[in-house]
Amino acid sequence: MSIPVTLIPGDGIGPSITDATVRLLAAAGADIAWDRQLAGTAAVQAVHDPIPEATIESIRRTRVALKGPLETPVGKGFRSINVALRKAFDLYANVRPARSVLPGLRFDGIDIVLIRENTEGLYIGIENYIKVGADAHAAAQSVAVITRQGSERIHRYAFEYAISHGRRKVTLVHKANILKYSQGLFLEVGRKVAKEYAGRLQVEERIVDACAMELVMRPERYDVIVTTNLFGDILSDLTSGLVGGLGLTPGANIGQDAAIFEAVHGTAPDIAGQGIANPTAVMLAGVQMLDHLGQADRARRVQAAIEGVLRDKQVVTGDVGGTATTEQYTDAVIARL
Ligand code: NAD
Repeated sequence: MSIPVTLIPGDGIGPSITDATVRLLAAAGADIAWDRQLAGTAAVQAVHDPIPEATIESIRRTRVALKGPLETPVGKGFRSINVALRKAFDLYANVRPARSVLPGLRFDGIDIVLIRENTEGLYIGIENYIKVGADAHAAAQSVAVITRQGSERIHRYAFEYAISHGRRKVTLVHKANILKYSQGLFLEVGRKVAKEYAGRLQVEERIVDACAMELVMRPERYDVIVTTNLFGDILSDLTSGLVGGLGLTPGANIGQDAAIFEAVHGTAPDIAGQGIANPTAVMLAGVQMLDHLGQADRARRVQAAIEGVLRDKQVVTGDVGGTATTEQYTDAVIARL
């Protein structure tokens, strides 16, 4: 029986790279009934709503979505749809793997999975200005909220992920030396959860600044990283950069009742419509999705085909040093399956 999955093609390069992924998954034999839905600028143009109820309803029904990047206007217009979707479905775990596959990178042997708390911290949206005298913007404050429950579920997710994916080590990344309350609570809960996994996984702690330095100097020593929202946002772009850039790294947003799989990168307006975008990140999001749907063997086969084509570096897109179009690269991956 085919598996229902919501497909949000997205804006800019989104439709071309999600089409490439749909084609690849079909070629790999995945029996998926795609339910195409709109969000972002495409939805504003079609139905004057950046996040139509039909899209929310579809995800509520299928509980799984594959999503292209969505355009968020800077400093005006509607708020980020990505943040709205994460909130609507309480997608608390953001899982971003980064593996060094391309030849000629500065490092070999990088295989890091960064697990970022996706709903709390500084991204909770409690912000305001403080007026002093005539200056309405004399000061500004953004509140970081960390809860015991939020910390517990993200640490537990990270440890369970590590066990189920045959990983050996989890690094808790924090700034509890300075932010003794919020980051202190995150670390306290992490230590407590870690005790339950003693003997099964190696556990270490790193202060975020030292972690950033070490990720650049000795990235191969990292395995699974678990951290708070803002640190995870920044460090996951860093780990993307270590393995060849944003065109290569996927991200899964996981909640209790739904999961949304996407690329880490945006709509790439500078190259949209030219047929040259790199679809790898969304394809690898498709691999994460197959894993989530319990199709691990198929996921490994698709991943191996993508990595094989990247490793050969004969038919790859311009952002990673090749001349292939999106379509030519997709054909090469399918031929490799
Ligand atoms: P971007 O990731 O779209 O582009 C940054 C650079 O990387 C550009 O030069 C682009 O051409 C290149 N690039 C990105 N993906 C690529 C790919 N698959 N193949 C080849 N090159 C690629 O970041 P931006 O320009 O800062 O943002 C553009 C828009 O995307 C904004 O509206 C932003 O809000 C949105 N955005 C959406 C998401 C999401 O939906 N998850 C994430 C980030 C940004």
